Amino acid sequence: MKPTRLGQNFLVDKSVAENIVCSAELSCEDTVIEIGPGKGILTGLIAPLVKKLICVEIDPGLAFQLKEKFGNCKNVEIVTRDFLRWPIPTASQTGSAVKFISNLPYYITSPILNLALSYDNWQTAVFMVQKEVGERILAAPGCREYGVLTLMVLFHAQPGKLFDVSRASFSPVPEVDSTVIKFTRKTPRERCYPVTEKLFHRVIKSAFSQRRKTVLNSMSAGLILPKNQITELLVKNGVDPGIRPEHIPFDKFISLAIDLKTVI
Ligand code: SAM
Repeated sequence: MKPTRLGQNFLVDKSVAENIVCSAELSCEDTVIEIGPGKGILTGLIAPLVKKLICVEIDPGLAFQLKEKFGNCKNVEIVTRDFLRWPIPTASQTGSAVKFISNLPYYITSPILNLALSYDNWQTAVFMVQKEVGERILAAPGCREYGVLTLMVLFHAQPGKLFDVSRASFSPVPEVDSTVIKFTRKTPRERCYPVTEKLFHRVIKSAFSQRRKTVLNSMSAGLILPKNQITELLVKNGVDPGIRPEHIPFDKFISLAIDLKTVI
């Protein structure tokens, strides 16, 4: 089966939808942002539980149908926009930090995930992603799947696997199975790193730029810095320059980024 336009594989299994919404632990005080509501299977379950539900749907045809369907629900707002270009509401607009819920469109999972998690007005997110992407998000150091996506998620949040979903739960049926993950935003104390997200991203991108090479070679080539300087930096931080990047835990990458702050 060919990939669908705009990642439009709609969830048709009501019990999966109920499990997703239940996992978000919603209350009548919550503001929820649903990304890509589609035909509204999650929307209909979320709306009665929360103070406000903002649904951001890129497809004008689907957004029109949702406006018809939920026109009588005063707490539901349908926004016809590309989530990646939508100015996410601030804390002063929403009152409390928002909760995200989405069966994410697979073709732009990483950009949406990075944008949503780097936003500063959220508390939890329940996202369904392609199973292979879920494995990359949840990977432990030393695993083949551990890499830039794992570390960028950890910069902002603690992810936890909820459950897998069979491809048979969607229409049209996609080529892959899915996984539902709950992300909990790190506390202000946990995420008060003395480095910016941009610098951290640059450092990990350099380390994973040539996965099969040693971290010394990758970082030296990626950051255009001499090998002796990178060796000194790695040794100072207790990292063997001869290992591959997937063996370096998150906290070590933060320390490396701190030391590189004045150099790159
Ligand atoms: N939530 C519905 C469900 O579970 O059946 C639909 C999920 S479907 C996998 C992804 C939805 O995201 C589609 O409705 C698609 O039109 C929408 N979408 C795709 N790209 C988008 C974007 N950049 N911004 C907002 N919505 C998007």
